[in-house]
Amino acid sequence: MDRDKLLSVKELTKVFRVGSLLFKKDLIAVNKVSFDIDKKEIFTLAGESGSGKSTFARMLLGLIKPTYGTILYKGIDITRIKSAKERLWFTKEVQPIFQDPFETFSPLNKVETYLYDTAINYGIAKSREDVYKIVEEKLNAVGLSLGEIQGRYPHELSGGQLQRVSIARALITEASLLVADEPVSMIDASLRMSIVNLFKELKEKFGLSVLYITHDLATAYYISDRIGVMLRGSIVELGPVEKVLSEPLHPYTQILKQSVPDPNPERQWEEDIQLSSFDIREFTITGCKFSSRCPSVMDICKEKEPNNISINGRVVKCHLYI
Ligand code: SF4
Repeated sequence: MDRDKLLSVKELTKVFRVGSLLFKKDLIAVNKVSFDIDKKEIFTLAGESGSGKSTFARMLLGLIKPTYGTILYKGIDITRIKSAKERLWFTKEVQPIFQDPFETFSPLNKVETYLYDTAINYGIAKSREDVYKIVEEKLNAVGLSLGEIQGRYPHELSGGQLQRVSIARALITEASLLVADEPVSMIDASLRMSIVNLFKELKEKFGLSVLYITHDLATAYYISDRIGVMLRGSIVELGPVEKVLSEPLHPYTQILKQSVPDPNPERQWEEDIQLSSFDIREFTITGCKFSSRCPSVMDICKEKEPNNISINGRVVKCHLYI
């Protein structure tokens, strides 16, 4: 099948120097991560706390510099963007949706000013009438109206409403890619599915792509086209979400499988399904980072880091498949 690539990440790596002055050491937070996102695709990066997924998102958004690797967006290496004009183009094209919607907005400003400013500053609206028309149209697309938010401050809206306003902002800039980092984890459980469903709707309606970053495999299963499972900075399994979560190949993904319900469109996911707890010592393990927990561990696993192996449209990083 031909793929229409929007984003292409190659060997992206981030190394932090950690420790005291005398005992500094390198911590590889993101280790040679490579994958593509197609136009009109929802790609999930799933991982527990400390897996490197948020560091990855910060590199993609240009908030921190990679140590190594490239990020090609529409064929342009955004790690090398220098001019203000290119930076403005990129921030218009790739919009973040953050975890805590209350931190996205200044508590001192009315929520609608945020949207008016976006329409004006990005040169989307050409007149005053245009501003109102565009803002109303994009709010309608996320299930809100200008009347519902006008004159109100962030604390007067719910987390779900504010997250919808964040998404409306991305629609105003006519973004092609949303980078949504745990966008529903701080939202009331009863409203989570409505926000997650919105990503699916916007993909269909506007052809948007979404990088959905989460620890919640249930919502990942429900909305994604493909998934990359991260463990200690590396993607250990990548492929179509249904295959990866229904018939996982990597022992780490297999352990997660018991947490993921069978596919059933009638089913409402009401609870978070969490990945296992974080152990920082796994960062320093030689060989496979999962070797201390893996039920299939072999001698070679403790000596040599496994390579990425391609199997039937999937990539798995494990010595079992050599
Ligand atoms: Fe388990 Fe070895 Fe595969 Fe790592 S490489 S997941 S330790 S079998």
